[in-house]
Amino acid sequence: MYDVKKKLHEVLARLPQGVRLVAISKYHPNEYILAAYEEGQRVFGESHEQELSRKVKALPSDIQWHFIGHLQTNKVKYIAPYISMIEAVDSLRLLREINKQAAKHGRVIDVLLELHIAEEESKYGLPLAACRQLLAEGEWRGMEHVRICGLMMMASYVEDEGQIRSEFEQAARFFDEVKSSYFADAPYFCERSWGMSSDYPIAVQCGSTMVRVGTTIFGPRVTE
Ligand SMILES: *Cc1c(COP(=O)(O)O)cnc(C)c1O
Repeated sequence: MYDVKKKLHEVLARLPQGVRLVAISKYHPNEYILAAYEEGQRVFGESHEQELSRKVKALPSDIQWHFIGHLQTNKVKYIAPYISMIEAVDSLRLLREINKQAAKHGRVIDVLLELHIAEEESKYGLPLAACRQLLAEGEWRGMEHVRICGLMMMASYVEDEGQIRSEFEQAARFFDEVKSSYFADAPYFCERSWGMSSDYPIAVQCGSTMVRVGTTIFGPRVTE
């Protein structure tokens, strides 16, 4: 078996204080998740609703699940009862749906707004201008069942460290702008979710508070 425990501790050892690990377990079997769980890891991230729902039923109930993928509005209702954080909110429509479904369960769901900063066209997320507009329009202020806790983004998948760093720095500057404009008095608005297997050491140098690391801990993705 792939040595999940050893890899987990190697990653944890590289994280400065105040940076949390979201162990990205998509396409990895339950036994791998349990191996990390036994070492004390409690926060896991998944990006497909059906896979997540299966895992939630089979795994310990004190796991905090983060939804990290693109979430279709028609899937929100399935995860609303238990999801700990929805990291990739990239439209007002999705935010409204999360608010609506959370209300049905008497919950307040923590979310992050996903930024699109990377050059790649295929990536989801809000361009900075669209994110500014969403916040400025203010409808979110009336949503009592969602709590915007920060920002999430993925850097371009490139070799050039300079480019990756500059994208993280852009995200960090934008975080400061949003924090001071809208959330200066909101201590819960504090999360900067950036950094994956290939770039998390750079991300933590650029103010990440939450890294999303999969392959480095669990090995190549296997199951569907
Ligand atoms: C899969 C995924 C990750 C983890 O990627 P690794 O390269 O396996 O660390 C992080 N963030 C998002 C949004 C993902 O979809």
